[in-house]
Amino acid sequence: MNMKEIILCYQGEMVLKGLNKASFESTLAKILRYRVKSCGNFKVYRAQSTMYIEPLDEFADVDEAYRRVSKVFGLAALSRAVVCDKNFETICETAEAYLGDALRGVKTFKVEAKRSDKTFPMKSPELCAELGGYLLSKHPHLRVKVKDPQMTVMVEIRDYGAYIHGPKTPGAGGLPVGTSGRALNMLSGGIDSPVAAYRMARRGLALHHIHFASPPYTSERAKMKVHSLAQIVSGYTGNCVLYVVPYTAPQEYIRDHAPDVLFTVLMRRSMMRIASRIAHEIECDAIITGESLAQVASQTLKALQCTDCAQDLPILRPLIGMDKSEITETARAIGTFETSILPYEDCCTIFTPPHPKTKPSVEEILEAEAAMPGLAELEEKAAAEVERIAVRQNEPVELL
Ligand code: ATP
Ligand code: MG
Repeated sequence: MNMKEIILCYQGEMVLKGLNKASFESTLAKILRYRVKSCGNFKVYRAQSTMYIEPLDEFADVDEAYRRVSKVFGLAALSRAVVCDKNFETICETAEAYLGDALRGVKTFKVEAKRSDKTFPMKSPELCAELGGYLLSKHPHLRVKVKDPQMTVMVEIRDYGAYIHGPKTPGAGGLPVGTSGRALNMLSGGIDSPVAAYRMARRGLALHHIHFASPPYTSERAKMKVHSLAQIVSGYTGNCVLYVVPYTAPQEYIRDHAPDVLFTVLMRRSMMRIASRIAHEIECDAIITGESLAQVASQTLKALQCTDCAQDLPILRPLIGMDKSEITETARAIGTFETSILPYEDCCTIFTPPHPKTKPSVEEILEAEAAMPGLAELEEKAAAEVERIAVRQNEPVELL
C-alpha cells in the first residue's frame, strides 16, 4: 500500500504566551523550514496549534527530517501521520496497514476522530466507533480504554484528505531559539560547556560560541575538537559562529606577573573581559559558562564573585546547581560526551598552580591586576585578532 507520510509537531510552552504567540509561531515555522530544507522538498504550515511538515515528492527524506525536527526547541511532541482518501474503507485499511504493528504491541487503545470537513458523511463519534470496531476485529486481543489507553489512533478528516496519526514521541521542549535574545557561550573542549549551550538555547536563546586557544600550548586538534562540539550542538542551537581568541600572550603575561595562587581567577577575569568585549560587538546580551558550584577552585562563591565583577554583562550559568553525573547524562543524550572526553589540552588547565586559592577576595585580585599594567593592551590585541569560524547546522558533523 502506498502511504504518504507527513510530520506533525505539537507546540509546548509557547502556547501559553498569549500576546507573543503569533511571533513565536512564525519563528518556529521559520526554524522548521530551514531545518528540513536540505532533506528535500517539504511544505511547512500551521493549522490551529499544530505545525505540519509535508513532503512534496517521494525524494524527500522524512526519516532525516523527523530526526532533525526532534531537536527543534519549542515542540512538546511530534508524530507522524499518513494521508489517505476520505473514504471509510480506505481509512480502515490505511489505519491497519500503518498502525497494525504498533497495535500488536499494546493491550489497550482508543480511536479519536476530528472532522473539520463537514461534508464527510460520518460524524466523529460514529467514525470512532466504526474504525474502533474494525481494528478490534483485526486485533482481538485489544481492549478499548477511553482513559489512558496505551495507544491512541487519531483520524482527522480535513479538506485535503484523511490524516491517520501514529504514536507521539517527545519533542525537544523549551522555546524556539531566538525568542529570548542572544548570548555568547564560552566553549571549552570539556563536558560542561556544550551542555550549558544546549540548556540556554532550550530557553530560547540564540547563541554564538567563544573559545580561548593558547598555541603552541594548545594544539590545532584541540581547536578542531571544539569546532566539532559546536557543530554537534548546532542541531539544537542553530547556525552560529565560533570565535577563537588567540590567548597565548595575555596568559603568559599573567603567569609571569601575578602570584601563582591567584593565576586561575585572574585568567578567568581576563577571559571574561575579552568575551564581554566581543559579546558587545556582536550584540550578545549575556555570557554563558559551564560552571557548576564547587566543581573546581575557580567555581567557589568567592571565585565566582571575582569573575562576575570583571565585566558588566550578566553571566548565565545553567549548570550551577547540577552534579557532574547529571551534566554527563545530558552530554550523552545530546551526543557531545564522546567528543568531549577526547584527550586534548585546554588553555584553562595549562600553567595552573597546584594549590589555587579557593577564597580569593576582590581587593587582592584588583591589587594583583594593578600590578599588570600591560594586560589590557594584550587583551585588546587578542580580541582584535579573533578568528571567526562558521558553524552550520545542516552540514554533516565531522567527528575527530
Ligand atoms: P568544561 O567541562 O566546560 O571545560 P570545566 O569543568 O572543565 O568545564 P573550567 O575549566 O573551570 O571547568 O571552565 C569553566 C567554564 O569556563 C567552562 O564551562 C567554559 O564555559 C569556560 N571555559 C573554560 N575554558 C575555556 C576556553 N578555553 N575557552 C572558552 N571557555 C572556556
Ligand atoms: Mg574545562
